[in-house]
Amino acid sequence: MPALSITITPMLTTTLLAAVQRAITLAQQARDHGNHPFGAVLLDENDHVILVAENTVITGRDVTNHAETNLVRLASQTLPPEKLRQCTLVTSTEPCAMCAGAIHWSHIGRVIYALSEVELYNIIGPSPEHLQFPCRDVFARAAAPMIVIGPIEEVQAEAHAVHAEFWSTLTS
Ligand SMILES: [Zn+2]
Repeated sequence: MPALSITITPMLTTTLLAAVQRAITLAQQARDHGNHPFGAVLLDENDHVILVAENTVITGRDVTNHAETNLVRLASQTLPPEKLRQCTLVTSTEPCAMCAGAIHWSHIGRVIYALSEVELYNIIGPSPEHLQFPCRDVFARAAAPMIVIGPIEEVQAEAHAVHAEFWSTLTS
């Protein structure tokens, strides 16, 4: 098993921070639309937003419709792998193992997430739905390099707030 390294999150540029906040806004929109509170955006090589996606698990009646898989699907249908290699997927919460796999297959070269998987599960509380598998563990086993940045300290309050009282009402 590859050795895991501790990543110190660098300060994000104003543009990247805005993209992270956009992903959190999309998570709130997903929640407003009756879905789980997750959102993601795709940035081109100049960090401009080119695609956005929300979680659509409930309205789409498809458990694989996470924000990141929805975004990867859209991205791979519209952009070639050589372009995607220079793109960044920005997401409101750390990609799950399924989404990390999808991101790998898409050839997207960088991932930025606001809230960690550990924090998400702290918010949700005990649940048989937990799948604890940090995205860095998935990417560490891939042949292609992946840059991973997160969690993002500056947006922790917003990243938490979008989940507030959502999961308790869902499971009670
Ligand atoms: Zn996922």
